[in-house]
Amino acid sequence: MSKKTLAQLAAMTPCDDYDPNSMSVAQAKQFIRQYLHPVQETERIAIRDALDRVCAQAIVSPINVPDYDNSAMDGYAFVHAELAQYSQLRIAGKAFAGSAYTDKHQPGTCLRIMTGAVVPADVDTVIAQEWVECEGENIRLQQLPPLGANIRRAGEDIAAGQTVFEQGHLFQVADIGLLASLGIAEVEVLRPLRVAFFSTGDELLDISQPLQAGKIYDSNRYTLFAILKKLGVQISDLGAIPDQADRLETTLLTAASAHDVVISSGGVSVGEADLMKPLLQQHGQVLFWKIAMKPGRPLAYGKIGEAHYFGLPGNPVAVMVTFYQFVQSALQILMGQSHPYEVPLLTVKLAQGLKKAKGRMEFQRGYLYCDEQGEWRVKSTGNQSSGVLSSMSRANCLIVLDEDCGHVEAGELVQVQLLKGLI
Ligand code: AMP
Ligand code: MG
Repeated sequence: MSKKTLAQLAAMTPCDDYDPNSMSVAQAKQFIRQYLHPVQETERIAIRDALDRVCAQAIVSPINVPDYDNSAMDGYAFVHAELAQYSQLRIAGKAFAGSAYTDKHQPGTCLRIMTGAVVPADVDTVIAQEWVECEGENIRLQQLPPLGANIRRAGEDIAAGQTVFEQGHLFQVADIGLLASLGIAEVEVLRPLRVAFFSTGDELLDISQPLQAGKIYDSNRYTLFAILKKLGVQISDLGAIPDQADRLETTLLTAASAHDVVISSGGVSVGEADLMKPLLQQHGQVLFWKIAMKPGRPLAYGKIGEAHYFGLPGNPVAVMVTFYQFVQSALQILMGQSHPYEVPLLTVKLAQGLKKAKGRMEFQRGYLYCDEQGEWRVKSTGNQSSGVLSSMSRANCLIVLDEDCGHVEAGELVQVQLLKGLI
């Protein structure tokens, strides 16, 4: 990877170690990675607001979880060694969850105990009620469980003093409940990332207006809004900007002065970059790439002042694909996540052949489904033109085809990235 600064690279024409015309997806990602430094400022928030926020300070458990030995079953608690002497045990009392049982244990007796109830210190084993025969006040065990069975030990889940969340952890659904289980009401998190975005193009119409000849509705801003909302960043929608240098300049500078990240769509393809390129060269250090990928060949990345800038292509599907491949992980790093989520690549059988050109990485829109034999298969969602957003909307995965692979036949194994997950 290059040791040159962004400014030096941005001023260069294609040469040995930096060739903007032959960037692979992996190279471009790695390239961007070296300029990303997470936000530092923190704030304290209630745990209900902590979902998708990044932990700013390691969280150590103030208590044992569970806090006391308790029964894992509805059953009977007894002293294991006494079974050598007694063929049946008398039920001496009942222990319910939420109230401690305080009577002293008498030899030859047992305690009716409910799930979650404190197991008194003078008994040592619990048997599930299903394995017990009741005869009036007495029980007879149908099998002898091992010593200590069916007791959840104090600190077994989490011990007091144990680090539960490291700095840089992204709080997920289960974590919110876990924090509550530790009695923690507030957490220190990194401040949200401020992300501004705008569309470019004279052809763009706002959805509030009637359609006119030669115009299209600006969909990219809505797609970007939806993607960014899911990531939990602070969003500023700066609108659709016509292809006019002065308007683009003002928008870029305003955006860069008040945000951590600026994203634009359109205006970076060959010919079109004529407007954006001089502006970005004047005000920032921005690299224009032709990534060996489809969709999404043109891509710009760099800095305008302190802000990171991503110039995405204009085609609606290319916007999504380039966002997922480059911008998403960059935002996660800037948000302070120490282990950004790596979207798993699953290997599945192709239901039908796919056309693919060698020499570029392709992200084809796919539909993953379970066939009648219970085997997972993937098929194309149809037209792969990068302007066809409906086929992206039908897709539930991207079929990832490496640079060196050509056409793929039905039955061959391919890799897919899921577009949706459980949480
Ligand atoms: P560009 O990268 O600006 O050359 O745009 C490539 C294609 O994407 C053109 O067909 C544009 O009309 C279309 N496009 C650009 N921006 C948008 C947008 N915000 N919403 C929908 N389509 C767009
Ligand atoms: Mg355009």
